[in-house]
Amino acid sequence: MGGQTVYLNGEFTPIEEARIPVLDRGFIFGDGVYEVIPVYSGHPFRMTQHLVRLQKSLDAIKLVNPLSNAQWSGLVRKLVKMHPEWQDQGVYIQVTRGVARRDHAFPKEVIPTVFMMTNLLPLPDRKYVTEGVACVSATDNRWLRCDIKSTSLLGNVLMRQRAAEAGCVECIMFRDGFLSEASSSNVFVVKGKQIAAPPNNHLVLPGTTNDVVMELARKSRMPLVIREVSEDEVRAADEIWITSATKEVLAVTRLDDRPVGSGKPGPMYKRMFRLYQDYKRTVMRRG
Ligand code: PMP
Repeated sequence: MGGQTVYLNGEFTPIEEARIPVLDRGFIFGDGVYEVIPVYSGHPFRMTQHLVRLQKSLDAIKLVNPLSNAQWSGLVRKLVKMHPEWQDQGVYIQVTRGVARRDHAFPKEVIPTVFMMTNLLPLPDRKYVTEGVACVSATDNRWLRCDIKSTSLLGNVLMRQRAAEAGCVECIMFRDGFLSEASSSNVFVVKGKQIAAPPNNHLVLPGTTNDVVMELARKSRMPLVIREVSEDEVRAADEIWITSATKEVLAVTRLDDRPVGSGKPGPMYKRMFRLYQDYKRTVMRRG
């Protein structure tokens, strides 16, 4: 069995041999965007939506998309097929503004760096599903374009590290007294039978798992409202959920060392977890 193969600027190569020049603007400035496409049983999930989100990120940083959607899609499928040992995979696409003499302003001629890799997409830890997870909270001090899936992830990295140092899974963030998102997940709250989540605006990344959870809630007539959610509401919630491609949907059962609701995954969470697993089996894995 060969090792991990990655794609870099037109070529597939072993990961150990992939190299980018030190003057790549991705390295120097974090001047780039990325995308993560989950792949279940060989089927990329919602490829089109991911490529739309990539295009939006590229447009936002004024970088011309170096490939057509057909080319991206072909490359993703090819890379996935090169790693048949992994049933489920997470494909990373990274595009930077290429290599240039150091200057904040864009270079006159841009040759973007295009990198893709795939990793095993593990199932969320069983213990996290049955017992829920602990989170910390913090003031969201990131910039005001959190809708761009930028490789400049320092704000998110520092928040996630804050969680890690507290032995927690995530850091839930508040801006001006309202919920934004977590360091690498979106957040839902439940009070009684009502689910609420903040709107997709410049303060959050529009998550693809978030979309699935909202669709499943609507389809099964679980009451869901999209609106600003105050910090007080989060702290008084019966349930808090976090969502991402790798976490799927997890119940937050402790926030800042205090129990959330009963301190156990709640009835609404259990229902949503089942809906998500059914959807994964019947839709995501079938392609
Ligand atoms: N918000 C942030 C800041 C993230 O990094 C992620 C995951 N990459 C998400 C939300 C969730 O997005 P998705 O459901 O597409 O994984």
